[in-house]
Amino acid sequence: MSSPVSGLRAALACAAALLLAGTLSGCSNGSSHPSRPETSAPESSAPPAPRPDAAAYRRWGLDGPLAPPPVPPSTRLTATVKPGEAPQIVRRVRTADKIVFLTFDDGAEKDPEFVKMAEDLKLPFTMFLTDSIARSGSGYGYFDRLRAAGPAPGNAVQNHTLTHPNLRTLSAEAQRKEICGQQDILEKRFGSRPVLFRPPYGNYNDQTLAAAGGCGVRAVVLWEATMQINDMRYAEGGGLRPGDIVLAHFRGPSELKGTTMTQMVTNMLRSIQKQGYTVARLEDYV
Ligand SMILES: [Zn+2]
Repeated sequence: MSSPVSGLRAALACAAALLLAGTLSGCSNGSSHPSRPETSAPESSAPPAPRPDAAAYRRWGLDGPLAPPPVPPSTRLTATVKPGEAPQIVRRVRTADKIVFLTFDDGAEKDPEFVKMAEDLKLPFTMFLTDSIARSGSGYGYFDRLRAAGPAPGNAVQNHTLTHPNLRTLSAEAQRKEICGQQDILEKRFGSRPVLFRPPYGNYNDQTLAAAGGCGVRAVVLWEATMQINDMRYAEGGGLRPGDIVLAHFRGPSELKGTTMTQMVTNMLRSIQKQGYTVARLEDYV
């Protein structure tokens, strides 16, 4: 792992991580005017980053490149949520574009091949991490390279509680500890406070929203499609719809009946591609 290529990769990953930390902490200060374009300004003057070549996609089992995602809107959905207010609830992003958003939950499997795949394909996705699960094995360090792997400014780590409880069974105070405790841990570890929260099992109540809003969450993110081992399941209809949020997990062969995480992701990307969609970054929209 000490080849010149991996050294260069590490340097690039480090640069991207710094860029990410600066960008995300800059947009979580809560002082932004609702109409201020939060994401497009710094990137509009820079030349677009090169897309992965067709060979990279073929290396990971795809027939050809995923289409480049469209330019995201100048205002994010959460731009109107003021600090401390109840967060927005997002199941699906309102868009006419044929894009979907990948999300990976919990943080159990730490497959180094998935890091290579994400870097090779510059894959945009969101990671919803649970402290008690993500901390296992090589710990949070695994997610640093995954943050840097996405297109600039990188992929974000977001909140999925401290211990993955069914929040509806907990008191308001216990919910606050689960959500705000993980906000603090992720902010300390990654340098920016999460703005998105996903409740375990999709279970929440009014106390969840109050607790999340109170510690800086701007949107509660649910999902419309779920990736299994080979196929996706849809909340409505038999296929993807524009703006669908896709739920997947950091899982390996023991949870996937022998299938690796990268094979599962290949299956997911092939399905997305076959349905005429491409992937975009959730934080550019929400
Ligand atoms: Zn989970």
